[in-house]
Amino acid sequence: MKRLIVVSNRVQPPSEDEPGNQGGLTVALSTVLRESDGIWFGWSGGETESFTGHINFQKSAGVTTATVDLEPQDIHEYYDGFANRTLWPLFHYRVSLAEFERGFVDGYERVNTRFADTLLPLIAKDDLVWVHDYHLIPLGQRLRERGVANRIGFFLHIPWPPMRLMVSLPNHQELVESLFAYDVVGFHTHDWLESFIDYVRAQMDATIGEDNTVTWNGRTLRAVVCPIGIDAQEFADTANGPVAEAMRQRMEESAGGRAMIVGVDRLDYSKGLQERFIGYERLLSQREDLHEKVFLLQIAPPSRESVQTYQEIRASLDSLSGRINGEFSSVEWVPLRYVNKGYPRDVLAGVYRAAKVGLVTPLRDGMNLVAKEFVAAQDPADPGVLVLSNFAGAAAQMGQAVLVNPYSPEEIADALGQALTMPLAERQERWRALMDTVLEQDVMWWLGQFMAALDPDEAPEPALS
Ligand code: UDP
Repeated sequence: MKRLIVVSNRVQPPSEDEPGNQGGLTVALSTVLRESDGIWFGWSGGETESFTGHINFQKSAGVTTATVDLEPQDIHEYYDGFANRTLWPLFHYRVSLAEFERGFVDGYERVNTRFADTLLPLIAKDDLVWVHDYHLIPLGQRLRERGVANRIGFFLHIPWPPMRLMVSLPNHQELVESLFAYDVVGFHTHDWLESFIDYVRAQMDATIGEDNTVTWNGRTLRAVVCPIGIDAQEFADTANGPVAEAMRQRMEESAGGRAMIVGVDRLDYSKGLQERFIGYERLLSQREDLHEKVFLLQIAPPSRESVQTYQEIRASLDSLSGRINGEFSSVEWVPLRYVNKGYPRDVLAGVYRAAKVGLVTPLRDGMNLVAKEFVAAQDPADPGVLVLSNFAGAAAQMGQAVLVNPYSPEEIADALGQALTMPLAERQERWRALMDTVLEQDVMWWLGQFMAALDPDEAPEPALS
């Protein structure tokens, strides 16, 4: 087995203290890193006055991590700047929220170069290198410039924007050209892959071959669709475990016989939280019969608080939730419980299980793992209903959910009405089909698909195109 080197902005090694509370990505990558004696390289999250390239090696639950500290200016320009204020909004189709500053581009290039310089001595001849996400698009090219001839793959965990939006990025050409340093480029859905192909065909006159191989300027990459999953069996077991069960009971007592709708999202404008609240408000205004009988629990831990757009969305949600509760609450009923706090996954599993409806309505999302976790946590005998945005990557695999246009308050209200009254047999039928997919296309399946494309000699089974 070839050694794997994973590179991502932040490194999320498995925790020895809380093995049951880590995300599927950590579990999947850790399995291969452990077996191949690999390395997970990235930013420590820490600051240093002046970048030295000093690598901090650690071993956690059998996985070796190698991390570096970054300078405050790097963090400002590369992470808060180009990654989160330029690429994140643009790639989520929100071009009007994107900030274009040359300083951000410079910082992004500088950190990618620093990563390449620091990582270079760690790469041995037959290693496979797997770079993750929008923070590190040019890293492969920086490595090639330094003579790295290994197989290098890239996986994008967020959407790829339509060509006409992509061209609004001042350095779009340079950025996309740098992807040709990779042997494999992975996306969650056919939609994102199609947008990428549109771009390289129209803007670069690249040649598209069989199996989405793309040739430009003498370099060929293979574009693959590979939707990430969760560790579904483990999550289902967690939902049956003691922590989740205690939480489920607490939620049931606190619900007092009312039907719970649940939403769980980082507080991010891509998640469609304002539109969701307005959709729920619409339901309450149209359906007086549901008053006192339902409530929406929205868990929304704040994220990226240093970025102004995130402060604005928080203020707007504070005001919307106040308006809804002010208008509809009674002395005994609060229709919207809005919680700006994060919970561990085993607790969330109990919350999902207590809910009648999972409301997942991002305006745009690369995948959306909460949708899959909600399904995995349900009780097969009495499953809740998933209401899912058409514009989440997950919708491509989860057609048996009640699918909605997240921009439409009427569709959200109608879907909630339908979900709250759905007969048991239909709930079970939809859930079974969703659960089969979530179990089959889990995170290890995703990893296997990508690794087969990255190293076709080692794993010759046909990968997805
Ligand atoms: N999550 C969590 N605690 C919380 C809220 C979210 O552990 O309070 C986890 C959630 O279980 C999921 C992840 O954060 O695994 C969110 O992933 P998703 O793909 O839905 O969205 P992202 O935040 O990556 O955009």
